[in-house]
Amino acid sequence: MPDWIRRFADHGLHMYMIEASRYLLAAGSVTLLLWLGRGWTLPRRIQARIAGWDDRRRELVNSLLTIGIFAIVAVYTFAMTGLGVYRIPFAVPPLWLGLAEIVGLILAHDAYFYWMHRALHSRAMFRRAHLEHHLSRTPTPWAAYSFAPIEGVFEAAFIPLVLFLVPIHGVALIAFVLHQIVRNVIGHMGHELAWPGFTRSRWTGWLTTTTHHDLHHSQGAYNFGLYFTWWDRMMGTEHPRYHDAFETAAIPWFGRKDVVA
Ligand SMILES: [Zn+2]
Ligand SMILES: [Zn+2]
Repeated sequence: MPDWIRRFADHGLHMYMIEASRYLLAAGSVTLLLWLGRGWTLPRRIQARIAGWDDRRRELVNSLLTIGIFAIVAVYTFAMTGLGVYRIPFAVPPLWLGLAEIVGLILAHDAYFYWMHRALHSRAMFRRAHLEHHLSRTPTPWAAYSFAPIEGVFEAAFIPLVLFLVPIHGVALIAFVLHQIVRNVIGHMGHELAWPGFTRSRWTGWLTTTTHHDLHHSQGAYNFGLYFTWWDRMMGTEHPRYHDAFETAAIPWFGRKDVVA
């Protein structure tokens, strides 16, 4: 076997293990925490429908396939870095620069995701590229990477696109991908753990909640945003009953179910 093929396979397998660990750890620990704290979390379920084992299995298998695409794109990205096309400095940057890169990445990804997601919902793309993700009408943490291959490529293209424009320090990239999987798993966990008033407060209302993305899965056509609510609000795509649906699911952190019901 030619040496470059073996190196590609080794590197790809290595990247696959890293990406899969990130997903399995995040989805697994949120599933475990929801179950361990079920006395507290069950009353906070967003939908009456309960996802079955078939749903979870499909989400897991799809996610493990998507991670294969992520691994190939990661190998490509490092190869381009090796050729000097992209720059990923591995030195630790000054704190201000590291934080600026992380915040910049999150803001840019939020905009990228919103518009990519709108495109995925177009008539031309939905069936081929995005229907698979929407088979999860009642999403679970395992749905985080449950994409059709075309969507997987679009999702993975963000980091190479950014690196094409600007160099990003290695630690900032690591912090970004960790934040991304945690937020993604939270968006699909099916339970609203934020407190009442969260979506209307000027301190927290700009952050998306689990209910925000859950409504996108149960009712489509609204709430395309990822981390922040501002793109949906600016473009008029926020679900008209978002605040009501949120308040139905949310319970005061130290409140009792029978008080709210
Ligand atoms: Zn969608
Ligand atoms: Zn989703």
